[in-house]
Amino acid sequence: MFENLSERLSGVFDRLTKQGALSDEDVKTALREVRVALLEADVSLPVARDFVKKVQEQATGQAVTKSVTPGQQVVKIVHDALVDVLRGADDPGNLKIDNPPAPILMVGLQGSGKTTTTAKLAKRLKEKDGKRVLMASLDTNRPAAMEQLAILGVQIGVDTLPIVKGENPVQIAKRAKTQASLGGYDVYMLDTAGRLHIDAELIQQAADVRDVANPRETLLVVDGLTGQDAVNVATEFDDKIGVTGVVLTRMDGDGRGGAALSMRAVTGKPIRFVGLGEKMDAIETFEPDRIAGRILGMGDIVSLVEKAQETIEAEQAEKMMKRMMKGQFNMNDLKMQLEQMIQMGGMQGMMGMMPGMGKMAKQVEEAGFDDKILKQQIAMIQSMTKKERANPQILAASRKKRIAAGSGMQVSDLNKLMKMHRQMGDMMKKMGKMGKGGMLKQAMK
Ligand code: GDP
Repeated sequence: MFENLSERLSGVFDRLTKQGALSDEDVKTALREVRVALLEADVSLPVARDFVKKVQEQATGQAVTKSVTPGQQVVKIVHDALVDVLRGADDPGNLKIDNPPAPILMVGLQGSGKTTTTAKLAKRLKEKDGKRVLMASLDTNRPAAMEQLAILGVQIGVDTLPIVKGENPVQIAKRAKTQASLGGYDVYMLDTAGRLHIDAELIQQAADVRDVANPRETLLVVDGLTGQDAVNVATEFDDKIGVTGVVLTRMDGDGRGGAALSMRAVTGKPIRFVGLGEKMDAIETFEPDRIAGRILGMGDIVSLVEKAQETIEAEQAEKMMKRMMKGQFNMNDLKMQLEQMIQMGGMQGMMGMMPGMGKMAKQVEEAGFDDKILKQQIAMIQSMTKKERANPQILAASRKKRIAAGSGMQVSDLNKLMKMHRQMGDMMKKMGKMGKGGMLKQAMK
């Protein structure tokens, strides 16, 4: 079952004890599981395929963060990619209801939760936005549906258009519009008829109503449990009627939310709300994060990885400081420093921030140091072997020549880098010896 995606992934990655960059093979193995899981969550095959391809490109070669397993990290990458695909409207809960009375057209199949959602949204507009709302049922085929809306209206304290026998949906829509204008309503919601399946008559009726009402929003209500069918329904409604957003209902059920992913990928329509139960408050604006977590069934891992990524840099820096104070400052440390300097706004910016480095910052400025030089220096360090980086004192003339040639620099440039490394090392050592009151130790606090 789908719940086991995290277990599947951990199973795959537990066998890999080595931490480091995610290899092509690791990622492929993991993504096979992700693909199966997506299909089980009722994501359509082409969507799942495209998605996996995208993740593969992002994940391969990514450094694995310490304190999480590679499997967990892949989950995080998958999660972020899901959020990316799902993201639709910037502010999904913000319905266009200026220029009162604003018509909102509700469409969808019978049993999708359309009437319930109409009432839930009316309640939300009333309570959250302080709007005066009028609801009207246009389901002339099913008197019970019209009564259902009236009952819900009483329950939530929202007016419904009185039922007049013998009217057709277009007539009801017109009457709702008049009533909404005369009655000073901000919004009027038109709950159109539903059918068990899409047919020409249903679509024609919705189109006719749309033409007289000219709705500000046309919200399609679909049952989130129906997965792939929901996507077909959405495509059809959008082609024929034109929808401005989707409401996915029954997201409180066992469905895994795969429909949401396909919905967005196939129709391009934003999901605006999700229904989370039968109660009138059980509606929320759509949050891609939550659905992604639901599809993966593993919200905790994502925050775990995020936290680990935040702390890793601090950990690295602290370790380096400790070693530097003991006089163990090698080329790897220097490289890391140079990289951080680029990240932190160049050498001068960085030195300006470090206590006791003001003087050096000035020298740096005078020497015309800039990011280009930093990058050249990093290139020289990259041309060194592992052994040379750890013990720069072994760099004899022949090694220096090789390194300079390998990075497209001169031996004199390399000598300058070595001198800087020595000076920095000496300085760090001195600072370390200053003991408890040492500047670096203070900086570390
Ligand atoms: P309509 O035919 O599309 O108007 O559907 P209804 O609004 O009558 O809803 C059909 C059934 O689904 C009712 O029993 C609702 O209470 C229920 N329902 C609607 N939305 C949700 C939801 O988000 N979660 C759950 N669990 N049930 C819902």
